[in-house]
Amino acid sequence: MKITFLGTSAGLPTKERNTQTTVLDLNPVYNEYWLIDVGEAAQHRILNTNIKLGKLTTILITHLHGDHIFGLPGLLTSRSFQGGEGKPLQVIGPKGIKQYIETTLAVSASHLNYPLDIIELEGDENQLLIHDITVSVRLLEHGIPSYGYRLQFPDKEGSLKQQSLQEAGIEPGPIYKAFKTQDVVDYNGVIYTTAHFKEPAERGKVITFFGDTMPAASEAQLADQADVIVHECTYLEGDHELSHKYYHSHIADVMQLAVSSSVKMTLLNHVSNRYTKEDIEVLMRRLQDEHPEFTFRIAEDYMCYEL
Ligand SMILES: [Zn+2]
Ligand SMILES: [Zn+2]
Repeated sequence: MKITFLGTSAGLPTKERNTQTTVLDLNPVYNEYWLIDVGEAAQHRILNTNIKLGKLTTILITHLHGDHIFGLPGLLTSRSFQGGEGKPLQVIGPKGIKQYIETTLAVSASHLNYPLDIIELEGDENQLLIHDITVSVRLLEHGIPSYGYRLQFPDKEGSLKQQSLQEAGIEPGPIYKAFKTQDVVDYNGVIYTTAHFKEPAERGKVITFFGDTMPAASEAQLADQADVIVHECTYLEGDHELSHKYYHSHIADVMQLAVSSSVKMTLLNHVSNRYTKEDIEVLMRRLQDEHPEFTFRIAEDYMCYEL
């Protein structure tokens, strides 16, 4: 799996940073792409990558601020001409996303040549199942409804201990599949508990994508022991209270969340345009020196993270 950042700016685009767009590449297991938010000109950024819109199956929208959705109508219409014909697409987002999409398409007389399913979230908590991926959605704190999406991938079965099986007189063959997938197996009249012949199951990965937010109680549930969280950090330094006044996070808030939730890697995006590349490098080095317990990166456009 791979996360690619195609827009990492807060509010306004800059020459280096586009507005919010993140790609989740689910190859090779699922052979598809998801998008998290679609900032203006997201489709232009996609043209500079290998991502095929025909393989885009799911778009998760965190909230309806323009820097997160102004690229959506154009991307939806382009998909009709870029390999999407006849291939279903689902868009999941807060209440209002349906009206936004349907209105922009209707006013511009745009027609899609593929089925589009728009799912609107309700209330504080939602749970969805996409393939075998459990998607837990929680409301954050941003002035307008903004959601975080926690993706829990299924656990992987442990591999078979071939030597133990052969020592027990169980020779390789189709029976091994039964040992891998069942809890007990009847082999030549003997009942075997298969756990003795398997390595422990590997915990499925957890990735959480946060929408814009100031610190909120629901964040800890979303971040708990995640392999990766992607979180805004509009304020990389300075006044804590000011960041909360605008319903955004300060980097100290994100660090506190990540460390207390035992998050393995934090990828920070939604960076204010007031910081130059040099400012960010200095800040990153300082933070790494002062807080070695915080494992993080500040994303730039086109940055990829594999997991
Ligand atoms: Zn934003
Ligand atoms: Zn926002």
